[in-house]
This record gives sequence, structure tokens and C-alpha cells, in this order.
Amino acid sequence: MKPPEKTDESAEKEKQMIRKIGVISDTHIPEFKQLPPAIWQYFDGVERIIHAGDLSVLAVIAELETIAPVTAVQGNIEEEEVVLELPIKREIMVGNCRIGIVHILGDSHNRARVARQEFPTARVVVFGHSHIPWNEDVNGQLLFNPGSATDRRRQPTCSIGLLYVDDDTGNARGEIIRL
Ligand SMILES: [Zn+2]
Repeated sequence: MKPPEKTDESAEKEKQMIRKIGVISDTHIPEFKQLPPAIWQYFDGVERIIHAGDLSVLAVIAELETIAPVTAVQGNIEEEEVVLELPIKREIMVGNCRIGIVHILGDSHNRARVARQEFPTARVVVFGHSHIPWNEDVNGQLLFNPGSATDRRRQPTCSIGLLYVDDDTGNARGEIIRL
């Protein structure tokens, strides 16, 4: 006998088990005038947004919260209101996936070691600061920097990121989006 065909509804349910998280960093507002409008398109449907610091004003959070709830940390170039409001590092659970967030995560030579020290049990560590996108799985820990959304420096483009978390396994993968 042929197995029953998958209905649209069950296909939809399978899709929902993958959680989509928007990741952004180093927005440096108002040094840079505004968030790139493309963010609203790419972050459509995310259940949460992570900002990895250097906002530089809290208004950035308010703006992103029109899309989804925001979890943020402070960077090293912030207005005082951000320093007073946001932690330097934090961890969140998204489904079964533990995500560590910090602005500065060592440098390219010691990053994996620092990440494991700072967040021993995190599946994903999100960071910023370098304005260089980074998406590397090291011994089961995904190190993810979305790059800067506004200040590309020597990168070809500005960028943001998406994380996809599998609720069943707690697994995660990252995607860098060049703007
Ligand atoms: Zn920055």
C-alpha cells in the first residue's frame, strides 16, 4: 500500500519546528543615519532578533521590536543609555538551543577557545565588533558574527544574519545575508 500523501497542514507543521532568528550587529546609529530597509524583508517571520552590540542608541531596539522581540548586549561604542540598560554578555534559550551573546569575542586566533570559556554549554555564540561576518562551527559550537548592518569597512557589503534552530535536536545553523 502506498503511504498516505503528506497534507499541506503536516508540511506546514514540519516547517514550524525550525525556528528562525534574526541577527544584527554594529548598527552605530545615529553615526549611520538609519537601519537598511532590507532588514524588514529578511527578518520577516523571525521569532526573535539578537543585536550583538554597538547599537549605539536604544531607539535601535525600539525600531527592531516592530518586527520581533529583541535580545541585545552592549558594545564598546554606546551612548550612556545603552550602557545603563544592557548587559555585556547574556545567554538565552530558543527552544532547546542555548545561545550566548557578547560583543567582543577574542580575535580570530583565540576565538573558539574564548567562546568555550565564556559560554561552556552554548550551542551558538553570537558576537560582533569586527564588522567581519563569521559563520563557523568549531567542535559543536557555532560562532556567528553577522557583520555590520551599516558600516562595511573593508567588506564588500554590509550584512546581517539568520539563525535556524531545530527545536527537536537543539541544533542550529547560520546564514550570512549580504545587503
Ligand atoms: Zn562596531
